[in-house]
Amino acid sequence: MNRDGTRKSIWQEKSKIVSAEPALEEWYDVAVVGGGITGISTALRLQKAGQKCIILEASNIGFGTTGGTTAHLNDFFDTTYAQAIKDFGLQNAKLLKYVGIESKNIIRNNIREFNISCDFQSKPGYLFALDDEQEKKLDAILEGAAQVGHSMVQTADTPFPFAFKKAAVIPDQAQFHPLKYIRSLAEAFIRLGGVLVENCLCESHDENEECVVLQSTKGTVTARSVIYATHIPPGINMLHFMNAPYRSYAIAFRLKGDYHPKELGYDLAEPYHYYRTQQINGESLLIAGGEDHKTGHADNTVECFSKLENYVRQHFDVDTAVYSWSSQYYEPVDGLPYIGVLPGSKGKIFTATGFRGNGMIFGTITSQILGDLILTGSNKYQRLFDPGRIRPITGFTNFVKEQAAVVWDFVKDKVFAEKVKALSELSEGEAKVVKWEGESYAVYKEKEGKLHLLKSKCPHAKCEVRWNSAEISWDCPCHGSRFTVEGKVLTGPSVKNLLRIEL
Ligand SMILES: Cc1cc2nc3c(=O)[nH]c(=O)nc-3n(C[C@H](O)[C@H](O)[C@H](O)COP(=O)(O)OP(=O)(O)OC[C@H]3O[C@@H](n4cnc5c(N)ncnc54)[C@H](O)[C@@H]3O)c2cc1C
Repeated sequence: MNRDGTRKSIWQEKSKIVSAEPALEEWYDVAVVGGGITGISTALRLQKAGQKCIILEASNIGFGTTGGTTAHLNDFFDTTYAQAIKDFGLQNAKLLKYVGIESKNIIRNNIREFNISCDFQSKPGYLFALDDEQEKKLDAILEGAAQVGHSMVQTADTPFPFAFKKAAVIPDQAQFHPLKYIRSLAEAFIRLGGVLVENCLCESHDENEECVVLQSTKGTVTARSVIYATHIPPGINMLHFMNAPYRSYAIAFRLKGDYHPKELGYDLAEPYHYYRTQQINGESLLIAGGEDHKTGHADNTVECFSKLENYVRQHFDVDTAVYSWSSQYYEPVDGLPYIGVLPGSKGKIFTATGFRGNGMIFGTITSQILGDLILTGSNKYQRLFDPGRIRPITGFTNFVKEQAAVVWDFVKDKVFAEKVKALSELSEGEAKVVKWEGESYAVYKEKEGKLHLLKSKCPHAKCEVRWNSAEISWDCPCHGSRFTVEGKVLTGPSVKNLLRIEL
């Protein structure tokens, strides 16, 4: 199974492609674009309800962030209840609480109904404040949680090896193996008559009064409704200014001795570190994550792994790092995801994005929200997550301006002004954006010396791509599109490859 990065995540070990090569039919009730947790959960829900559904996946299922997640299942979120109360009001914050509870129930029900073996385990989570600043944050988190009636409480002890100032325990959180889970969901979807087409990039859509016509690399698909479960919708959309792409790093460690935390753990640093244990091939590995940054905004992404590893080694008795990988998520401007009708659509195209680090939960609740919107026209969460909302919260204008400025910065030629002789000066394994006669190029020299030369403008919004040395990819700092060294799209919103120059 492939993922949108060179490094292998802990989940990739045992997964395989699910689908045979089904023929495309002319008409579907619902076409779902994207085979991550969001797309597969939603397609299954609709297929179960009697809709004729198709999933179009550009690569293989789990290729996107679902294959690079750390799969904590929480009912508290990166946007705290305190923040949600401030920006959305107490009633909406209370509604948010049920998203976590219901999503975990949807996952439990799917596991039961389809007899899925995916290492699902309920367990408590611990939040720990390591300094005064973090303690203040934890106080606010506990107060917000109490106001919405959430069950997290202060605790005097945690099972994690950190000297903390204050800590909280959160009962009934969970974890699972995300690829075992979505693979079983996809198999259930196919058994119920659903069609899954992999290696099928959806390139464009045309929405009219009756239906949506999708053009894909495997032909035309017509559907009454389309769902872009692509993590961020393709094309140019208002949502690209309301969501910023971020990378997060994860390492799975073999520890010395018998100690492995059985629980889930989170500090309150900025960005925070997160911990859990996973059994892989009969062995317990500690998964730690963190070192998040805006996509395309770290000069040396390999260093992010070293920083994370050094930090973990200070606290745990680490033997070796067995897996290390990074992946992408989207930060929404007002802290809550956008799930519903795609802005600018006539009402037949839906999307779900802006999940922050909680997409296992928000991707799962999408199956209920978009399922209900398509089947009945309404859902209790539809207003809270309306993609068309504009919430003038603190920082709103700055966020949108920053997103626009980022685009502007990189559009207006922010490249290293170098001559093409730099090509020959590149060391093996090195990459650069170079300028030559008014054009800029993304150049990568393989270990064996082979050069790859691409036009460096992202086809999505014409920003300059930047080198990601950790995942050997070209990443767009504006909206998060990512490309292989051959120029092939790894991650949307771009649906076109970088232009390759044959040398
Ligand atoms: C390191 C890391 C750790 C995380 N840990 C957690 C966690 O512990 N708990 C949690 O709840 N969340 C976590 N998240 C967030 C969560 O993993 C994601 O939000 C979630 O996986 C997104 O799922 P998705 O199905 O929406 O998108 P994806 O999994 O990215 O799937 C989108 C799919 O769409 C396909 N696609 C894209 N464009 C096209 C196109 N034009 N045509 C056809 N197919 C297309 C892609 O190939 C991809 O397979 C984490 C995120 C990161 C980065």
